[in-house]
Amino acid sequence: MRNSSPSRTIPLHDLRQQALPLPKASTGAASDARSPLIDTLGRPLRDLRISVTDRCNFRCSYCMPKEVFDKDYVYLPQTSLLSFEEIVRVARQFVGLGVQKIRLTGGEPLLRKNLELLIEQLARLRTPDGQPLDITLTTNGSLLARKARALRDAGLQRVTVSLDGLNDSVFRQMNDVDFPVSEVLEGIAAAQQAGLGPIKVNMVVKRGTNDHEILPMARHFRGTGIVLRFIEYMDVGATNGWRMDEVMPSAQVIEQLRSAYPLVALEPCAPGETAQRWAYADSHGHADPQAGEIGVISSVTQAFCGDCNRARLSTEGQLYLCLFAHQGYDLRSIVRASEEDGALQQAITSIWQARSDRYSLLRATQAADSSPQGARRVEMSYIGG
Ligand code: SAM
Ligand code: SF4
Ligand code: SF4
Repeated sequence: MRNSSPSRTIPLHDLRQQALPLPKASTGAASDARSPLIDTLGRPLRDLRISVTDRCNFRCSYCMPKEVFDKDYVYLPQTSLLSFEEIVRVARQFVGLGVQKIRLTGGEPLLRKNLELLIEQLARLRTPDGQPLDITLTTNGSLLARKARALRDAGLQRVTVSLDGLNDSVFRQMNDVDFPVSEVLEGIAAAQQAGLGPIKVNMVVKRGTNDHEILPMARHFRGTGIVLRFIEYMDVGATNGWRMDEVMPSAQVIEQLRSAYPLVALEPCAPGETAQRWAYADSHGHADPQAGEIGVISSVTQAFCGDCNRARLSTEGQLYLCLFAHQGYDLRSIVRASEEDGALQQAITSIWQARSDRYSLLRATQAADSSPQGARRVEMSYIGG
């Protein structure tokens, strides 16, 4: 079905192509792996998210609404995508500059053919002090039952599975392709069996759509070793028709959970962690390790830009410094221009050193960006979550 709303006329395909000019290299730019590369706000580069496809077999309304991503939508051609060799070349440079964690994402990353081969190569990379990387993947779980074992054998350590409810009709409505919840649960079980843990399950909470699934989800995953995380519905991209009144603030999620289970706040595991962690409490009010923990990701109501250490590489090799960016930097042309990696390393260095992105923090202090520029924000399915 075609939609005649104004958003349908935004030439999304064209927006993807516009790259920012490279910032001028600062003198004495850090290419020395011992001194961390930091941006203008003192944030180190630690986490690289790599989108391996802009395609998806779901049409979650908050991410790839059917009205926009319909049969006429033009996805990136194969020649535009970074090959696995190119992705590994870029990743190697990032790792040399401080990245310790790589997350594969998309679109739906398991739709990318032979993804295991990419994982195998990434798993061989080492940090400057010889440590293996933390490699993970975010998936909608639809193909996980089939692929979990091969992913694990290739060197993937853990997965995050997105699941927005346990009620089958709510879930089918949210993925908007009538996909049954049972198959995602089978995927999660297969990932557990394959040792892809600790598994995280991400639930985007949309008020009025699936907020009544918060407690059933908590009940289901409590005590399983799986960490359930509730994500505030975000104003990413320009197509999901985001409205503040559909955001369920994390504080209210916690309040709901507390009505059923006592919780105790936990310290963050690592700097730059996106989730605030809570443990289920025992009868003495202490964290109960058997019951496990949950997390809330309050991207809208409690900005965590202050220690955001994440860079995002789009499917076609554009580097984005923020989930809410309008434009990226074209690393693909640098990769394809030369087999030498010096220019690539210099480009990443100068781009990160010039970074000042902090959209969520600014959103909290001024009106959300509803300008024509705001309507040009890049889609999450293109740069990955
Ligand atoms: N297709 C995979 C999946 O769904 O897990 C990976 C890509 S998806 C873009 C990554 C994550 O972004 C998912 O957990 C998804 O729920 C989340 N996401 C997408 N749009 C969102 C939005 N508007 N607000 C909050 N989270 C969103
Ligand atoms: Fe696909 Fe993931 Fe976006 Fe849903 S959130 S449409 S599964 S990319
Ligand atoms: Fe990082 Fe941008 Fe999100 Fe802030 S809004 S936490 S800078 S991705």
